[in-house]
Amino acid sequence: MKKREVYLDNAATTPVDAAVFKKMLPYFSEKYGNPSSVHKIGDQARQGVEKARQQVASFLNCLPDEIYFTAGATESDNWIINGIVDIFRKDNSDKPHLVTLVFEHKAILEPIRVLEKRGLIEVNFLPVSKDGLIEVKEVEKAIKKNTCLVSIMYANSEIGTVQPISQIGNLISQLNQKRKQRIVFHTDAVQAVNYLNCDVNNLNVDALSLSGHKIYGPKGIGALYLKKRTLITSLIRGGGHEKGKRSGTENVPGIVGLGEALNLVAKRKNDGTKIKKLRNKLITGILRDIPDSQLNGSLEYRLPSNANFSFKGVEGEGIIIALSEQGIYAATGSACASHSLKPSHVLTAIGLSDEQAHASVRFTLGRQTTESDINYILEVLPKVIKRLRLISGR
Ligand code: PLP
Repeated sequence: MKKREVYLDNAATTPVDAAVFKKMLPYFSEKYGNPSSVHKIGDQARQGVEKARQQVASFLNCLPDEIYFTAGATESDNWIINGIVDIFRKDNSDKPHLVTLVFEHKAILEPIRVLEKRGLIEVNFLPVSKDGLIEVKEVEKAIKKNTCLVSIMYANSEIGTVQPISQIGNLISQLNQKRKQRIVFHTDAVQAVNYLNCDVNNLNVDALSLSGHKIYGPKGIGALYLKKRTLITSLIRGGGHEKGKRSGTENVPGIVGLGEALNLVAKRKNDGTKIKKLRNKLITGILRDIPDSQLNGSLEYRLPSNANFSFKGVEGEGIIIALSEQGIYAATGSACASHSLKPSHVLTAIGLSDEQAHASVRFTLGRQTTESDINYILEVLPKVIKRLRLISGR
């Protein structure tokens, strides 16, 4: 009999939706042209890219011209930081100042740290509450005369907490009316796209990063939305693709897949409600059946798909391995950081001790999750935790 498998690591990556895959396929072997070629085969590929740009723009409610395709959200995040800082340094003698959150994804934190170490920028890494949230007034207090970029993630990848992006956007656009140095407001919306409103006018953001593989599209493709007239230096120089900002022959099947993936997200408006019901069943069941377990982060301001727990006295990694043996796939810390022995910077930012952070497990539900999957975890997990606690003698 085939082993039962339950995939609950959708924040790490999602399977490519069959409808997305179908739309991508012709662009590998039939419509294989280079979008820059003037002939018919090139034109077919170009049409695929431009249709996808339209789909992304329609999802974000912006102009197609404001969309730049990248190789994923890590690239989009690095670009916005380096590109905005470069522009500021060209035009000003002051040091650029950035505002961000302590528990952003590493794709934001690492490029910022490099610039800070080189002495090129000043930064405020804003703390978050024990619920994993930031208040708008904290952002306001951090802003200085030389602030050029505020980057605040829409939803956290590890604990799923959702920040008040549109309120922060309104604040910044009001401040900008009176400022000489305009602040660019960026949000990393990678984890939010499946479930939250990403209309850039509603959010009042100047820039937004997203990624294909978190939304049932392919890996290695993403986009940066950049509001018209926002100055940024080019990310990669070469043949002048993407309006001269990001050269390199386009990843045509990936771009087509990203467009179609967003098209599907827009159609599947009820996913969040269904997934939240299952997620709540999981949370209630775990907190009821497993002593000394806690949910990390706010329940109210949280993605419908995310549940992150600490289980006293047990290593998260041990839990993941034991669950994997039973066909249940979850995560400890973020997948990108799972090679590291350091406790998750997200969990320590909300006040967990190193020990509690190491004892954490993240379950992220997806389109494919069923009630019987949740029943299966609720049957397996209490036994796994009990056994691991017995072994460790804690
Ligand atoms: N930002 C957030 C919030 C993420 O969750 C991730 C992926 O884990 C990334 C950025 C990086 O995205 P990509 O894998 O497309 O580079």
